[in-house]
Amino acid sequence: MRLIYSLLGILLFNSGFSQNRAGKPAENYVLVIHGGAGTILKSQMSPEKEKAYRDALTLALQQGYAVLQSGGKAIDAVTAAILVMEDNPLFNAGKGAVFTSEGKNEMDAAVMDGSGLQAGSVAGVTVIRNPILAARAVMEKSNHVMMAGKGAEKFAADQGLQIVDPSYFYTEERWKGLQRVRQEDSMKTELDHGGKKTTQAFLFENKDSKFGTVGAVALDKSGNLAAGTSTGGMTNKKYGRIGDAPIIGAGTYANNKTCAISCTGWGEYFIRLVVAKTISDMMQYGKFSLADAANELVMKQVPALGGDGGLIAVDRNGRYAMPFNTEGMYRGVVHADGKIEVLIYK
Ligand code: ASP
Repeated sequence: MRLIYSLLGILLFNSGFSQNRAGKPAENYVLVIHGGAGTILKSQMSPEKEKAYRDALTLALQQGYAVLQSGGKAIDAVTAAILVMEDNPLFNAGKGAVFTSEGKNEMDAAVMDGSGLQAGSVAGVTVIRNPILAARAVMEKSNHVMMAGKGAEKFAADQGLQIVDPSYFYTEERWKGLQRVRQEDSMKTELDHGGKKTTQAFLFENKDSKFGTVGAVALDKSGNLAAGTSTGGMTNKKYGRIGDAPIIGAGTYANNKTCAISCTGWGEYFIRLVVAKTISDMMQYGKFSLADAANELVMKQVPALGGDGGLIAVDRNGRYAMPFNTEGMYRGVVHADGKIEVLIYK
C-alpha cells in the first residue's frame, strides 16, 4: 500500500513539475517590476508627476508582458521592462541616474537567469546607455559574471552596445538632488559597520528622497524565473562605491527551484545581509514561503541594522511579493490574463 502511495506521489509530483518544464504552457506566468523605494508621499506628488510614473510603469509592464504572452523567456521579459525604465529620466537608472559626490553618474546593473543560474553584472559604468544590456552581454558573451568600470565599458562597446557621452545621463532634477544632499552634508550620518560606528562626512539620500532604482522579476510559460536590477546607486555616493544591485545574491538573484528577486534601498545593508540569496535559501532549506522569507528580511532584518528599502519577488508557482519598509515603492505587476496593477504608496 505504502509503495502504491509513493509511486502515486512520484507520478503526481513529476506531472505537476513537468507542466512547467516540458513545454505545457503554465498559466501562472507573471511579471513584477519596481521603480525604487523611498519617501514617496502622496502629499508631495503632483497629479501630473504621479501620472507620468504610472504611465512609465505601465509601459514597462506591457513590454515585458508581450514577451511572456508570446511564450518568450523570463529573462527577455525582465530585460524589456528594465529597458523602458532605464530610458525614462524619472527613474534612477540609465537616463535618470543620480550623481556621485564628484558630480558623475556611475551605474550598476545585473541580470540572473534562474534556469541554469547564469548571471551577469556590470558595476561603476559611466558611458553605456543601457547598463542592463551590458549585464546581459557579460552573462551571455563572456566567461565572467561581473565586470567593472573601464573594462566593462570596453567589453560593452566590443559587443556593439550603444556608448554615449557621460553628459547623456545629466538631468536637472538629479543635479539639484545632489546639491540638496551636499548642503545636508553638515548633518553627517552615522553608518554602522557591523557594530563599528563610523561618522561619514556625507549624507546618502536615504530618508528624504526616493531612491528610484529599477528592477524586474518574471516567471515565464516554461516555468523559468529571471531577475534584473539597474541603478545609478545613491545620490552623493563616493567615487567607486558599488551597491547591492550588481552583486549576485545581494540585490539580484534567480533560481528556478525557489524564486527571482530584485531589491531596492540602502544597498550597504542589502549587501551585508545578502538579502536576495538569503530569501532563496530560506525557501530552499528552511521551507519558508516566499512572502514569509521576504518579510523577514525587509520588515525585520534590514531595519534592525538601520537600513531601509524593499524588493520584488516571484516564486516558481507564480506567487509574488512586494514588501517595503519605506513610505512608498513604485511597483507593478502584470498577470497572465494581461491585468495590470500599478502601485506607489503604502
Ligand atoms: N540599492 C541601490 C544602491 O544601493 C539604490 C536604490 O535601490 O535606490 O545602489
